[in-house]
Amino acid sequence: MSDKYLEIANSTLGKKLLAAVGLPDPVPLIRENPAEPHKLSDQVLLGASEGAVFANTIGAFVEAAGAKVCNQFLQDSGHLLFDASGIASAQQSEELYSFFNQHLKSVKHSGRVIIVGHKPSALADADHAAVQRGLLGFVKSVAKEVGRKGATVNLVLVDKGGDRALEGPIRFLLSAGSAFMNAQVLTVATPVAPMEADWVKPLEGKNVLVTGAARGIGLAISQTLARDGAVVIGVDVPQSQDELAAAMAAIGGLNLPLDITDTDAPERLRDFCSTHSSKLHAIVHNAGITRDKMLTKMTAHQWDLLVQINLGAVQRINSALLSTDLLDNGGKIIGVASISGIAGNVGQTNYGFSKAAIIGVVEALSETCASRGITINGVAPGFIETQMTAAIPFLTRQMGRRLSSLGQGGLPIDVAEVIGFFLSPQAAGVNGNMVRVCGQSLLGA
Ligand code: NAD
Repeated sequence: MSDKYLEIANSTLGKKLLAAVGLPDPVPLIRENPAEPHKLSDQVLLGASEGAVFANTIGAFVEAAGAKVCNQFLQDSGHLLFDASGIASAQQSEELYSFFNQHLKSVKHSGRVIIVGHKPSALADADHAAVQRGLLGFVKSVAKEVGRKGATVNLVLVDKGGDRALEGPIRFLLSAGSAFMNAQVLTVATPVAPMEADWVKPLEGKNVLVTGAARGIGLAISQTLARDGAVVIGVDVPQSQDELAAAMAAIGGLNLPLDITDTDAPERLRDFCSTHSSKLHAIVHNAGITRDKMLTKMTAHQWDLLVQINLGAVQRINSALLSTDLLDNGGKIIGVASISGIAGNVGQTNYGFSKAAIIGVVEALSETCASRGITINGVAPGFIETQMTAAIPFLTRQMGRRLSSLGQGGLPIDVAEVIGFFLSPQAAGVNGNMVRVCGQSLLGA
């Protein structure tokens, strides 16, 4: 569904009108150019605190990616990257203030601000750990200052061994693909599998299963992964089999009409994948439904149906996959949660429960997965423009869109790009992360 308010806010007359009545005027976000995805060319101003340990490595990664690193001022539009890992005391935090006080103004439309620090729990020194924890509050606050320019601010926390795995995360956060990921933390640790580096087609020839692939976010995920070289195996309910078949034919994928709650669904998925290929690179558990009702009016059927689709099926399919070695070394599992599972929502006790439990699935399986060379991560989308959100009443829909630092809803591709990054071999150091793709929605912030 198109966002008329965003269109008006970006017409000459609309801009003036909104300014006159003091209403927010969000700017359209710049997204990946389909013809040249993953390309970086903007300038990056790289700063570092005294004692910072990652800046040199990061600078080399940024240059290798084709962006120009400068150390003084941004000449043109560009991004800010600051290695704050050396900030170890309250007094030293002045370096953080000083860098951003001087340079934040130079971040322009759809610019990126990235701060890199240590994961606090990986530090022995309590003062150093506390100050590094402070970076999150700083990031969330800066994101609220620059969001109206369509700019994003994210934090990368490096855990033990994570310095070797920073290239993929830094490239992704600098890219147009991270347009709607805002005020988030990516924790990077020792890679669990080899990191092949094909930056243009990171998923070339890899088989990826996507549930709920016939429409909405699942369709965008399938198209984006196919753009990155994957062979997509799309799954959706038999009632959607024509849409699913057409969608998969358009991207050279395979289709499997199947209700994921069927008793034999996990075995059928596994058998289908092993018949068509010896290995599966990833599964994206995207299929999900809402059945909104106030709890006292909700029927047991509305609870059970939703929980079985959004959670039970995901757990059963994971068990079936992990009981074999079908997922390859470097394999990936993705859960799709929701900010309703973080903030809760009126009339969504069933949905909020199931989506919070998906966060639980990611947390609970991350160690087991890592020990097998697999990563498990998740996304928690905020307001995304799909048929699901088109069904929301008008005023609530407007609130959902406007109540974020970027002042607009996201597009299905925004969720898809984050998943594409998680699935890339270069994200082998990113495990157990749950990233909100919500433009810093004020819900549950
Ligand atoms: P959608 O309703 O447009 O698409 C969901 C797809 O899942 C449909 O094609 C549907 O047929 C399929 N599906 C449902 N039950 C299934 C089953 N039993 N077996 C197989 N397939 C099944 O929804 P969407 O907006 O694209 O949402 C996709 C995911 O993102 C869901 O998990 C949803 O909870 C989550 N999400 C969406 C938003 C949003 O704003 N749209 C926000 C947060 C989270």
